[in-house]
Amino acid sequence: MCGPRVFPICRILICRILFCLAVALTAMPESTAQQPAAHGHWAIMLHGGAGVIERATMKPETEAAYRASLKQALEAGAAVLDRGGSSLDAVEAAIRILEDDPLFNAGRGAVFAADGSNQLDAAIMDGATLRAGAVADVTRTRHPISLARAVMEKSPHVFLVGKGADAFSVYAGLEQVDPSFFFTERRWQSLIKQLKQEGLPIPPRPAGAPAAPQVPIAEIEPAEAHKFGTVGVVALDRNGNIAAGTSTGGTQAKRWGRVGDSPVIGAGTYASNQSCAVSATGVGEYFIRLTVAREVCALVQYKGLKLQQAADEVIHKELAALHGDGGVIAITPDGQMAWSFNTPGMYRARLAEGGKIEIGIYNDEP
Ligand code: ASP
Repeated sequence: MCGPRVFPICRILICRILFCLAVALTAMPESTAQQPAAHGHWAIMLHGGAGVIERATMKPETEAAYRASLKQALEAGAAVLDRGGSSLDAVEAAIRILEDDPLFNAGRGAVFAADGSNQLDAAIMDGATLRAGAVADVTRTRHPISLARAVMEKSPHVFLVGKGADAFSVYAGLEQVDPSFFFTERRWQSLIKQLKQEGLPIPPRPAGAPAAPQVPIAEIEPAEAHKFGTVGVVALDRNGNIAAGTSTGGTQAKRWGRVGDSPVIGAGTYASNQSCAVSATGVGEYFIRLTVAREVCALVQYKGLKLQQAADEVIHKELAALHGDGGVIAITPDGQMAWSFNTPGMYRARLAEGGKIEIGIYNDEP
């Protein structure tokens, strides 16, 4: 049919047909075209801070309150994932609950800086796109984690601090509260105690705080238990995307605009679908120096370590070598989950789709 003279025309025709076939194949619906399979199962983990948290000194009702709070936040995040929501949405939803809970050092219930103010830090990161948002030293946003997300989604920046971040929060339409919203008597008395011990000046009771009680409130647990108390969440959604978020009041009696690791991308918070998502808690200065969150993910990505091995390597070897204290929670796109800490306790909880909720506080629990 194709003689020597018409051969080039045949060739052009064949090429055209092949080209059309290729175009048709790429335009086919996802279900029939070759697409990477989504992991399909969701999972979520959270922490509520690590520190000197010991069974011997914990009252049963306090312990029960912590366990109930961790469960409530975990279930809120899990519900988002179970209805097909994104890992970012789950991280934000769970952290917002912990920020409203005065038990934790984030949002309401945050520790006080030495000047008597609450200075809040938060960060969020999307493992699918490597987009991230972070804020430090904010004073009026009810949910700093949502402000971090707004920085990621509504600004061209990654990290905003202080007055500028407070102003951006108003601009982005986030809920504003009077700084006294974050006040808790327990944290205030804990600050006064520390300032007295360190011989530092005692700031006036914050404006708008409730009147001082006639008798000091009973310590519901040892002050040391609250040295940390940051909250963090990592999640994996049904599309195989992971995300991480962290929110904190930082360290008690901090001065001079001190910012810890929590809002520093790569230190206290990190997520990449290439490796893992991590949220850390502990003495931020060490976590910043080691870029702990990124370090865990680097061991997974470049050394091929299993997630638990990587987390243990960083916490029990690298952090320990610097005499730093704290821990991490971490998750991978293929559903590995790990927590690791070198303190007597870390408030923590996790759930994988179809599994059972695990909640732990002390280091002798699984
Ligand atoms: N990492 C936080 C900070 O240094 C504190 C904490 O985790 O409790 O600001």
